[in-house]
Amino acid sequence: MPILPIYPYDAQVLREETKAVDAPSEELTQLIVDMFATMHLANGIGLAANQVGVGKSLFVVDLSPMEGYEEQKPLVMINPEITDMWGDEINLEEGCLSVPNVREEVVRPEKLHIRYRDANFEPQELEADEFLARVIQHEYDHLEGIFFTDYLRGFRKRLVMPVLKKIRRGEAEVDYAMANDAAVVK
Ligand code: ZN
Repeated sequence: MPILPIYPYDAQVLREETKAVDAPSEELTQLIVDMFATMHLANGIGLAANQVGVGKSLFVVDLSPMEGYEEQKPLVMINPEITDMWGDEINLEEGCLSVPNVREEVVRPEKLHIRYRDANFEPQELEADEFLARVIQHEYDHLEGIFFTDYLRGFRKRLVMPVLKKIRRGEAEVDYAMANDAAVVK
């Protein structure tokens, strides 16, 4: 199970919209296995394919390390499409393996409905709320080239900019492997 390097803030592959997965393949299955291994090693709870440099439309989520979510099964969402979002606008702190050492509050809707294909490429749909809805929205944004820090405004944004620049330069202090090649960052 190779551990894949995680691409940092503003890497080109993380700013481009990802492409749909056409069909299941051994390569896809291996990518999913590697993504889970990479995410677990970095103590993450969600990881999008473009965070490991693959511009495809899929992400993995595993909330089971979190208190209260021990029974939550790991999810693979291929070609996901959020079809509806509703409920209260919730303010919650987020972090990201591509944006190490930054935690900021982001406002997002409480609930969503999503269609996707699972690891067997079977069509699925899910209604999610609370923390699961939050993580899904964060990962879904990655597939469209959006970082949670893009939502910051004003003072918060000014405070975080120097840290983001440091991450882009490959100077973030992390205890997992990051792709650290100037060529990956535009
Ligand atoms: Zn992220």
